[in-house]
Amino acid sequence: MNKILLGLSVATFLITTVVYAEEHHGASGEVHWNYEEHGPTHWGEFAETCQLGKVQSPINILTTQTSSIEKSSVIALNESVTSGTSVVDNGHAIQVNVDNGGMATVDGVDYKLAQFHFHGKSEEQIDGKQYDLVAHMVHKSAFGNLLVIAVLFEEGKTANKTVQKVIDSVGKSTQMNPADLLPKNSNTYFHFMGSLTTPPCSENVKWYVMKEVQSASKEQIAALRKFYDHNYRPVQPLNGRIVESK
Ligand SMILES: [Zn+2]
Repeated sequence: MNKILLGLSVATFLITTVVYAEEHHGASGEVHWNYEEHGPTHWGEFAETCQLGKVQSPINILTTQTSSIEKSSVIALNESVTSGTSVVDNGHAIQVNVDNGGMATVDGVDYKLAQFHFHGKSEEQIDGKQYDLVAHMVHKSAFGNLLVIAVLFEEGKTANKTVQKVIDSVGKSTQMNPADLLPKNSNTYFHFMGSLTTPPCSENVKWYVMKEVQSASKEQIAALRKFYDHNYRPVQPLNGRIVESK
């Protein structure tokens, strides 16, 4: 092999190695969780709580086994604020970071909307049914406590304007009113305690799953799944948790 050829093969080897390392181990060289070979059954290797936690999300909501909502769990929504947003591919989902969004209030505590993101199929199930898409609106209190509102989508004839704006804005900054994602009737929902559905799987997260299912077009669902089509964690054991219903 002459020197040029040898140089080329060494270069090819190095490039291949670097690309492999970035895909599988992240830029820092650490192995990173994903939905493939380092998928949900291995997440305990990245964060103990994912494996040992007893209050994990998502769950399958059994509608016949819910109890009526406690007064202290009722949510007041004040989400309608047009905000600067940046739409990013976070490596696991398409995520919209919200500069100055609205908030949700539970039992006197305000939780400010920080970001929302999409899963290529719903993570939460209702009576065993998995929906075509879900948006998770992640809120944070001043003390760092988390509250997530889940909005379920099914394929329908009507395209969703906000979903379209997200798809058209990946990699860009734009103005959005995240409240447009919420169903018209956001006064009926399921509530339970759970966790983040991705590592570190931190618990003590207040979950609200809206009952009114939204519609997204076949094209919109396909466009989001082009980025991530199986970024959903399997349902986790209830372990005696009570699901409240309003
Ligand atoms: Zn999520």
